Amino acid sequence: MRVVVSVDWEGSGFEADDLAAFCEFRDDFPNIPLTHFLNAAYFTRLGPNDVMGAVSASDKIRTVLRDGDEIGLHVHADNHLLHAAGVAPKKFPSWDNLPDLTGHSVPLSTFSEAEVRQIVHFSCRTLMQQGFDRPRAFRAGGWHAGSNVLNALAAEGFIVDSSEVPHDWLPKGFGDVERLWPNATRLSQPYRFEGGIVEVPDNGCLADYVTSDQMVDTFNAVARSARQKPAVLSLGFHQETAAKFLPRLRSALGQIERRAAMQGIPLRYERAQDIATAPWLPKTERPIQIAPSDVAAAAASAHVEASRAAEKLARAAWLCKAGTSTVADAPTAAAKGASSSPEQTAKAAWLRKVSLGPA
Ligand SMILES: [Zn+2]
Repeated sequence: MRVVVSVDWEGSGFEADDLAAFCEFRDDFPNIPLTHFLNAAYFTRLGPNDVMGAVSASDKIRTVLRDGDEIGLHVHADNHLLHAAGVAPKKFPSWDNLPDLTGHSVPLSTFSEAEVRQIVHFSCRTLMQQGFDRPRAFRAGGWHAGSNVLNALAAEGFIVDSSEVPHDWLPKGFGDVERLWPNATRLSQPYRFEGGIVEVPDNGCLADYVTSDQMVDTFNAVARSARQKPAVLSLGFHQETAAKFLPRLRSALGQIERRAAMQGIPLRYERAQDIATAPWLPKTERPIQIAPSDVAAAAASAHVEASRAAEKLARAAWLCKAGTSTVADAPTAAAKGASSSPEQTAKAAWLRKVSLGPA
């Protein structure tokens, strides 16, 4: 059994208790190489001339890197990252079905292939400028990788994607995950896409969404289904929530190691790139046919400039959040801006949710 342990770096920031929990994990499990899905947003959130800020961010990241780790790439559509990459940010749609002024929960799958290439290329360049290895493995923010993302990754020289996730680990209606990965299960195993990308499914999800017992159950299920064949279990956590959720993973790994030893199952910790280059990986290639959702497909082909109505709505939502509600404007804004654009569709969903708009 191969176990890939990965870290999603959200690009949001660093808290001392998260880094401390992360460091402690490295000390207590020195045998585990990690696949870091690192994020260039730590650097684009800084001012363009903030050299000290960039050095500080790099130093903090390096405190939890160890020899033998893999540097991969994680991308969310944060406004500052997209601005820096030269791509227009969006507020809709988001996997929360709420307007997102930060862009963080806007799926990458709703951008065109050319835009995704631009963001990915810029992100790699930024990380390399900070002295990190050139990423070859990728996980999309919110696991939202459609065919546009996979084609962009192949064109940018990536060899691994790890965005496939079983939707039932996530909150109900978590964006388009179910439609993007309809066949994903806890038993999903690595496979090749046409164009050279190897998909290493995140079959055990990340610690924020699964308990220790569920991680152990996934190990048992994968072990049972694999019999004597090589099989992969993917587990992981987020840097930004390490203090809260890493204990779940620590506990699960301890139990998994004990069970594997008892059952005579050889356990190997590997990185995503080790899986992608393994000789036992089936040679058959699957076409990249991950159908983006209606929303995503429309967004990919539509001009992505936010409409005035969307701006007004997002502002109303923000005001509402800030406690100075003028949200009564919102339905009017939506009615005025009525069209079939993906932003409008997402907005209508949001309005229905907050009972302000037409049913
Ligand atoms: Zn993320």
